[in-house]
Amino acid sequence: MTPVKKVIHWFRRDLRLTDNTALREAMEKAECVIPVFIQSEWKDHHSWTGARRQEFLCGSLLSLAKNIEEFGGKLIVRRGDAGTELEKLLRETRAEALFFNRDPDPFGRAMEKKIHALAKSIGVTVFEFKDAAIHERDEVLTGSGGSYRVFTPYANAWGRLPKISPKGISKSFSVSGKIQNLPLPTLGDWNLSPSGALLPEPGERAARKRLSEFLKKRISEYAVSRNTPDRDASRISQDLRFGLLSIREVFTQCKKHAESAPAGSRDSIQKYISELIWREFYMQILWHYPEVLKHEFNPKFRGMKWPGKSENFTCWKNVETGFPIVDAAMRQLHETGYMHNRARMIVAMFLTKDLHLDWRLGEQYFMQMLVDGEIASNNGGWQWSAGTGADAAPYFRIQNPWTQTKSYDPKADYIKRWLPELRDIAPEKLMRPPKERLSRNYPLPIVDHAEARQKTLELYSAAQGL
Ligand code: FAD
Repeated sequence: MTPVKKVIHWFRRDLRLTDNTALREAMEKAECVIPVFIQSEWKDHHSWTGARRQEFLCGSLLSLAKNIEEFGGKLIVRRGDAGTELEKLLRETRAEALFFNRDPDPFGRAMEKKIHALAKSIGVTVFEFKDAAIHERDEVLTGSGGSYRVFTPYANAWGRLPKISPKGISKSFSVSGKIQNLPLPTLGDWNLSPSGALLPEPGERAARKRLSEFLKKRISEYAVSRNTPDRDASRISQDLRFGLLSIREVFTQCKKHAESAPAGSRDSIQKYISELIWREFYMQILWHYPEVLKHEFNPKFRGMKWPGKSENFTCWKNVETGFPIVDAAMRQLHETGYMHNRARMIVAMFLTKDLHLDWRLGEQYFMQMLVDGEIASNNGGWQWSAGTGADAAPYFRIQNPWTQTKSYDPKADYIKRWLPELRDIAPEKLMRPPKERLSRNYPLPIVDHAEARQKTLELYSAAQGL
C-alpha cells in the first residue's frame, strides 16, 4: 500500500496499544490514524452477556481512551450497527482506508463480510489482520489439509509452525479535525445495573501488571495452581478476551522464562503454554464447525434428551445444590465474575451429569456471568464437560463432586472462602454426602450422586442407540 493521509482503526476485542497488529500497520501506512470504537446498542437483556463483562469493557475503554490521549489522539465512540456507523464515519472523515483485527467469532465474521461489501461500494480499502490468536482459522491443518478434531496432534502441529514476534507500542496519534463523538459507554446505556462483583482492574496497564506478576511469582507453580481452585492461576483470561494483552507477547514471555527456568518449573511453563493452545484449538473448532453453537459437536449425541428438572437449574444458579464444592464455585462466579478452571469443570459436569440438564443452559448462564466469557472456549469447555465436544471427556467419565473435593480442595480452603456458612465444618464432612444438614442455613444435597450417575450412563447409551 502506498502511504496515505488518513485512515480509521476500528477497535474491537483488541483494546490495547502494545503489539496491536492492525493499529501498528495503520500507523506505519498513514499520516493520521483515527481510533474508533462502536458500541453495540442492545438494551435490557442480551442472552449471552451481562453486567460483569460490560462493566469490565467500560473500564477498559476508559483506560484505552486515556492512553490514546496521552499520545495526542482522541478515541471516537459511536453507537449502533458497526457497519452503518463505520460507513458514516468513513464518509464524514474522508478516511482512505479502514484497518481492523479479525474477530474469531461467527458474529464478528458476519460483520466483517458486511463491512468489506460496504467499503467496496464507497471506494474505501479495508485491511484486516490476524491478532487474537497466534494461529487462526485454517492455519493449522492435518497433512491431508483437513481440520483437527483432537487436541494433541493439533497442539503438535501448532508447535511446529513459525511464530511472529511481538512488536512495540503504537503511539503516534494525531487529532484529525472535529469529528462528532459520543461519551464513553456506561452500563446505563444497555439498561444494566452494576453487578457489585469484585472484578479485576480493567485496562491495558492492569493487565500487563497481572501478567508480569504471574510470570515473576507464580508460573513455576502452575502445574499445581491449575488444579487447585483456591489458588490463582494466571488470571489473564479477561485480558485475552478483550485484547488487553497480546497473545504473541504472553507466549514469547513464557518461552523466555522457560529458557532460564529450572527443570521443575519448565514443566509448569509447558503446561501453561498448552492451555494457551487449548484456547486456539477451540477457536479453530468454532471456525471449522460453527454449528457447535447450536448442536453437540459429536454427531452421536445430537438431539439427545436432557430430562433434568428446571427447579434444579434454579438451585444450581442460586448456590443451593447442597454440594459444597459446586455451591462454592457458583458463589465465586457471582461475586467475582470468575471461576477457577477446575471448578468450571466440576460445576459443568454436575449440571449435565448429576442434574441431567442441557449443557446449553450452563453455557448461556456462564456467558451472562463471566467477565472472561469467550464464545469458543466457553462452548468448548461446556461440550468437553458434557462429553459431547471435540476431544471431550468420554461420556462415562463422570466426576464425583465429593471425591473431587477430596482431591482438589482437601482442606476445604476454597469451600470455606466462598461459603462462610460452612466455615466451622470439618473438611472431611465436606467430602461425602451428609445425612443431615451441615448447617442451619445450608441445604441437603438435591440429588444422590450414585443414582444420578447410573441415569447418566443410561441417557448417553440411549442417545447412541446402545
Ligand atoms: P490459566 O489456567 O492461567 O490459563 C491461561 C490462559 O489459557 C487462560 O487465560 C485462557 O485464555 C487459556 N485457557 C486456560 N484453560 C483453557 C481451556 N480449558 N480452554 C480454553 N482456554 C483455556 N475460558 C475463557 O477464557 N472464557 C470462557 O468463557 C470459558 N468458559 C469455560 C467454561 C467451562 C465449562 C470450562 C470447563 C472452561 C472454560 N474456560 C473459559 C477455560 C478456563 O476455565 C479459563 O480460561 C481459565 O479458568 C481462566 O483462568 P486463568 O486466566 O487463570 O487461566
